[in-house]
Amino acid sequence: MKRIGIVGLPNAGKSSLFRALSRQAAEVAPYPFTTVEPNVAVVPIPDPRLDQVARVLNASPVVYETIELRDIAGLVRGAHRGEGLGNRFLAQIREVDAVVVVVRAFSAPDVPHPDGRVDPVADAELLETELLFADLERVEERLERARRRARSLERAAVAERDWLEALKARLERGQPARGLEPPEDAPQAARELGAITAKPFLYVANVDEGSALEPPAELVAHVARRGAHAIAVSARLEAELAELEPAEAEAMRRDLGFSEGVLERVVGAAFRLLGLVVFFTAHEGAEARAHAVPAGTVARRAAREVHSDMERGFVAAEVVAWNDLVAAGSLQAARERALLRTEGRDYLVRDGDVLRFRFTP
Ligand code: GDP
Repeated sequence: MKRIGIVGLPNAGKSSLFRALSRQAAEVAPYPFTTVEPNVAVVPIPDPRLDQVARVLNASPVVYETIELRDIAGLVRGAHRGEGLGNRFLAQIREVDAVVVVVRAFSAPDVPHPDGRVDPVADAELLETELLFADLERVEERLERARRRARSLERAAVAERDWLEALKARLERGQPARGLEPPEDAPQAARELGAITAKPFLYVANVDEGSALEPPAELVAHVARRGAHAIAVSARLEAELAELEPAEAEAMRRDLGFSEGVLERVVGAAFRLLGLVVFFTAHEGAEARAHAVPAGTVARRAAREVHSDMERGFVAAEVVAWNDLVAAGSLQAARERALLRTEGRDYLVRDGDVLRFRFTP
């Protein structure tokens, strides 16, 4: 299961957001979602495409893909030197697949800001500096070894050294590792380094309740220069909504003009940054389920996500794009219109495919 880490300066609204997300998780899905530890929760990723597929095929229950969410405290000035909970913080953030950065954009004079001002871009820069320094330290450590090994002129060693040199220069310019491709001749180098700033980042501007759900323009511009994305939430409002009965919360959301719940907006957006492909399986009277696999997964390998027997005895996959199926109104109609195809073991699964595997048990 993939992991998302929520980070931010103290009082940015991380815990409020984490609470809202984990409570909404319990509303969205008909099966229990647990808070594993006080700051770790497994949450579903609501997917309206799967809802529609389930309706057309009379499948139930609807089982979304899940992701682990971690509220990671300890990002303060000096964290990269181990200040505050710095070391623990860095160890935790290295383990996640995507990072949600909460920056304060709400005013609330009763909530102190560590630097006594509200400035989302300055906060983003402070956070990035800490993470860039943490990466830079690692790069320098590895670079020493890589330089020694590259003296052998062995191809992978040279490629790794050159890549680390380029990365060092990039981080020193204040740019994230994201965007620098891993070296072709040393494909393991990037994984071994585990740079924090190479991970996908979603910036969440925590805005005043009642204001438009849009991140401040200067933050959007800043984030675009980093190759990342920004959205807005009001964490306090979402935490309050999550306290209400589901029906009441739903009505409130409608009144507020929120078309999606906070889980879809935040977790859905962060999940999409992981570049996974989601396919669906669904059968009348049985469950409809979403499965996330890496882009480039072939049909036979995808079958393993459903059952290992299906991979072993794989014969073929029947495939229809979710929107084609919904437009056709039934599998039969999709087949008649030639929207449902039979594909072999090496078919590259696409995002939004509805798959049925034929296999010999
Ligand atoms: P953390 O330190 O980042 O985990 O921040 P918390 O979620 O604990 O929030 C710190 C304080 O800010 C709490 O008193 C929250 O109620 C308040 N807060 C968080 N989000 C908002 C918001 O969107 N608007 C307002 N007015 N207050 C907020």
